[in-house]
Parts: sequence; structure tokens; C-alpha cells
Amino acid sequence: SLKILDTCVNCDVCEPVCPNKAISLGEEYYVIDPALCTECVGHYDVPQCIEVCPVECILVDPEHTESNDQLTLKYEHLMAKA
Ligand code: SF4
Repeated sequence: SLKILDTCVNCDVCEPVCPNKAISLGEEYYVIDPALCTECVGHYDVPQCIEVCPVECILVDPEHTESNDQLTLKYEHLMAKA
């Protein structure tokens, strides 16, 4: 999963580009739900939020590092539920 750092300026451009609807406004800044984030695996070659973030405050969450296979599996589970 990816993670948004507290340097987020709440610009809101990442929320609509997330194909998994994993991004929402948290208490102080935008947050990513690790259960929903596939790092865009299954949808795009690169994470869309990282592409659009103007302050580069999104990175791989050190507490939720996943292999490509794990992310693909998560993508498939999410698709099966949708
Ligand atoms: Fe925050 Fe970056 Fe998302 Fe803008 S694009 S809301 S700065 S994480």
C-alpha cells in the first residue's frame, strides 16, 4: 500500500484518480486505506496518485510493503467483491 505523508497540502487531485477509491480526506490530510490500495496494480503501470501529487508526499508505506503478486491478489479480491 502507499502512504500519504503529513506534508500533504489537501489539494484533492489524487482522490479522483485512484481506481480503487482508496483515498479519502482524513482528520488533517488525505489518507490511503491499505486494504484498498493496490499501488494501481491491475489498473495502471504506475500509481496514479504519485503521478499527480504536486508535493511528492506519497510513497510506499513501510508498514504495508507488498510484492507484486500480493498486490495482484488484492486487486483480484477487490474486483470479485465489486
Ligand atoms: Fe495531498 Fe498530494 Fe493528494 Fe494533494 S495529491 S491531496 S498534496 S497527497
